[in-house]
Amino acid sequence: MHELSIADNIINAVKDASQSRGMLTVSKIGVRIGSLSSVDPDALTFGFDVLKRDQGMGDCDLAIEFVKTSARCKKCSREFEVSDFVFVCPDCGSSQCDLLSGQELEIAYFEGE
Ligand SMILES: [Zn+2]
Repeated sequence: MHELSIADNIINAVKDASQSRGMLTVSKIGVRIGSLSSVDPDALTFGFDVLKRDQGMGDCDLAIEFVKTSARCKKCSREFEVSDFVFVCPDCGSSQCDLLSGQELEIAYFEGE
């Protein structure tokens, strides 16, 4: 279950960042997960809840923003949402596309005092 190590990375990164800002507690962490990143949000939440107490973040909530996959057609520049990994332009049918979003796995923000 790689979500557990991802949760561990998130906690450690936010701990370092919050301590360097002089924050004592972190109450909320917001992460962005792309639909192509193969991270299960439920498993990530579970892993986070398992680890946070040991890390002194027992009162911290994890907010997950799920980012849909989108692409831009190289032929006609149309931007479209990708479902089921079908990278085909709905306008011109070209499969030459640039990925715009969907691979995110990042900490968007954290709150505390
Ligand atoms: Zn197109």
